[in-house]
Amino acid sequence: STREGFSTIPSVTWEDVGGLDHIREEFYRHVIKPLKHPEECEGFEFCSETGFMLYGPPGCGKTLVAEAVANEAGVYYIHIKGPELLSKYVGETEKEIRKLFSRARACSPCLIFLDEFDALTTKRGSGEGAWVVERPLNQLLAEMSGGQARDGVIVIGATNRPKEIDPAVTRPGRFGKHIYLPLPNAVQRGLILKSLARKVPLDPSVDLDEIARMEGCENLSGADLKYLVKEAGMLARDDETCSKPRRIKKIHFEDVLTRIKPSVTMQQ
Ligand code: ATP
Repeated sequence: STREGFSTIPSVTWEDVGGLDHIREEFYRHVIKPLKHPEECEGFEFCSETGFMLYGPPGCGKTLVAEAVANEAGVYYIHIKGPELLSKYVGETEKEIRKLFSRARACSPCLIFLDEFDALTTKRGSGEGAWVVERPLNQLLAEMSGGQARDGVIVIGATNRPKEIDPAVTRPGRFGKHIYLPLPNAVQRGLILKSLARKVPLDPSVDLDEIARMEGCENLSGADLKYLVKEAGMLARDDETCSKPRRIKKIHFEDVLTRIKPSVTMQQ
């Protein structure tokens, strides 16, 4: 649903997001409430952040959260990847960043989701041609430091490699609020499975919390759980031993769990 640079209101809702209620809460305080109930926030604009950095392993809901926030806020959403800003417009990058923000301001309130943020930053002084990376970054920070409410532009950055981000980037007033999205625990896996299984033919006997605790489910990311549901669905569809209409049963999940491998290894 996210075409690069295309601004629209995403269709993802918090119902699609499992196990991240505390993060929803955080965004409610900083983004949703000031937008939806400005009268209750009058005089307190100073205490809410408009720049966020989501970090954590791949497939754990960073994109999903950004889309759900934009949906709940009812604001336009621009999805852009760090490397694209760079590779497409070397030399022109600063201009592109300026354009990005002026476009966002023109359709404000607007949320910019800047995925793979680490591509825009290197450790200062390291590597040949590091300035190519730093100048656009300075441009970006200048755009972000512009004014209290930043004219209704919210920026959410995302990275799998927080250590590669210059601390200058993550100061208050810039990407000041840092939010960690870890691999889900068993309880969260259960909640993720429930949100993923809402629209699939699940046998009523299946206990998704039990599935979430089973061997093979440990260390699975949200993206892996999506794959689990998909594969179990395929097995159910083709299961000749099941009477029709066919439904996904515990055995189908068990079958997939014997061979599924976590996409995130502990080294990451
Ligand atoms: P990357 O770093 O690879 O971009 P990401 O953290 O942005 O990953 P998402 O794109 O949000 O991950 O997640 C990938 C898919 O995994 C989602 O489309 C969704 O189907 C599933 N998923 C991940 N986390 C959750 C969650 N908390 N609840 C429900 N589904 C999830």
